[in-house]
Amino acid sequence: MSTTAIAPETIQAFTAADFTAPDAFTNFCSNGGKPLNGLIGGKAVSGSMNALIDVVNPGTKEVLASVSEMGYDEVNLAVQSGYQAYHGGWKDTSVEERAALIMKLVELYERDREVFLACEIINGGKVSELANGDLGTVRPCAEYYIDVARKTRFGDSDILDVAADVDAYTYVEPWGVVAGIIPWNYPVVLTAWFMMPALMAGNCILIKPSEETPLSALYFGKLAMEAGFPPGVINVLPGRGELSGKFIAEHPGIRYISFTGSPGVGQSILQAADKHGTRVKREMGGNGSAIVCADADPELVARMIGRNVNQHYGQTCCTIHRVFAQREIFDDFIGASEAFFKDLKIGNQAEAGTQLGPVINSRQPVRILDGIEFAKSNGAEAILGGGSASVSGYDGYYMKPTLLRSPTGSDCNPGEVFHTFVNVQPVDSVEQALQFANNTRYGLGSSVWTKDLEQGKRIAKQFRDGTGQVNCHNMGAYGIPYGGQGISGGPGGGVSCEETLHDYLQVKAIYVTDYPG
Ligand code: NAD
Repeated sequence: MSTTAIAPETIQAFTAADFTAPDAFTNFCSNGGKPLNGLIGGKAVSGSMNALIDVVNPGTKEVLASVSEMGYDEVNLAVQSGYQAYHGGWKDTSVEERAALIMKLVELYERDREVFLACEIINGGKVSELANGDLGTVRPCAEYYIDVARKTRFGDSDILDVAADVDAYTYVEPWGVVAGIIPWNYPVVLTAWFMMPALMAGNCILIKPSEETPLSALYFGKLAMEAGFPPGVINVLPGRGELSGKFIAEHPGIRYISFTGSPGVGQSILQAADKHGTRVKREMGGNGSAIVCADADPELVARMIGRNVNQHYGQTCCTIHRVFAQREIFDDFIGASEAFFKDLKIGNQAEAGTQLGPVINSRQPVRILDGIEFAKSNGAEAILGGGSASVSGYDGYYMKPTLLRSPTGSDCNPGEVFHTFVNVQPVDSVEQALQFANNTRYGLGSSVWTKDLEQGKRIAKQFRDGTGQVNCHNMGAYGIPYGGQGISGGPGGGVSCEETLHDYLQVKAIYVTDYPG
């Protein structure tokens, strides 16, 4: 850990550099004037429902691409293709054969990095500083799961002598066909987080990207063919959640679903999949909190928390919406927070200097305004009132930041708002802060900010969250589980850990004894 003091003014929000989409992105999107199709069994397949989805730049409302929506027939075909590819040879590939194909895919991904960057910036609305950081996590993800797979025992375990003349052992194999349902906000990272462990475990996969940001998954599909993955091993099924997504959740041929998205959708997927016994793991929304202790430097911590609150404009699952600051530093903290948020440069995500770009679609401003209204009607006072913003020259979904203060113990928490939206409350003690922080049905990630690391570690362990952080937030690392408690996720430890790869395997118990006669 570094002991160098950081000057508060050096802490800045994630910021955009100028970005122009490469021709390869524009050509991919325009697809010779035809809609982009799904990828099934190694072939481009158009949807039998004849429904097209416009993929939009949220900073300009320009239509970037038209995507063919996959219906029941296509989901069914993808399951059959996955099944054939699995039994036709993929299940017998070695870990090293799978690793070689995945590393070839990673090389192609790095060759076409600018296309993926355009997917994140132009379609996803992200600033380049954050998008570049996201893209850098794909190779380590592949390398991590290759390493886990090399250490994983597939097939038969050692034999246990469990009774007289009875051998018992376990047999470990992939599920066969598994699906990943991906949200819109971190499409490249979350596609990799699903794809790498599922493939390294030996499954054939169906990727269902978000209807808002399907381009990077479709491009991954194209590169997978170039890398030499056998047809049917990787299938990409774009479409709306209530259609393509629902057909996946309801399909009995899919043995395991990894869902990342909002709690309400996760609940409906669980119910649909449970009807035919498909296993489901869910990584869902958060309602993160931060506790600022009396010993913290209020200006420094306000800026660090501000940077995390504003990461992807609050459209990050474990973003901080609630801050509990000890009374001793409260006024200074809220003053420094106001200065940080007021200075954020609202603008187009592809223009240098932008720190607060567009939200993803037309529904999001309504949700943000509802959240502000809810908080105010339950006692919060607006320091920065939020609301829509206009950006000269761009017709996009721009919103101002919201900073609220509320009386101690008041409950004005609208849940996950998914924007640069934070409510700060004064507290009398760290214990009181902890009690308030844990008073939510969510449980993804929270943080405590203090010079006293022992106090910090004690508090971090008491959050009712999957992730507790001391003097940092929005953290994740391969080898450390990232998962939620409460309505934020489960079952299991989460993603990005050994257990994630093991989730893509089934374990059977085998007992053998001699024929009785
Ligand atoms: P969402 O729940 O609306 O959609 C997620 C995915 O589910 C999309 O692909 C969507 O098409 C699909 N879907 C929607 N309805 C469906 C249905 N009935 N059946 C099957 N599939 C369906 O979420 P979103 O708006 O795309 O993403 C934002 C949410 O994701 C936030 O709540 C955020 O916190 C959460 N998230 C969580 C994590 C995590 O790791 N815990 C990471 C990123 C995002």
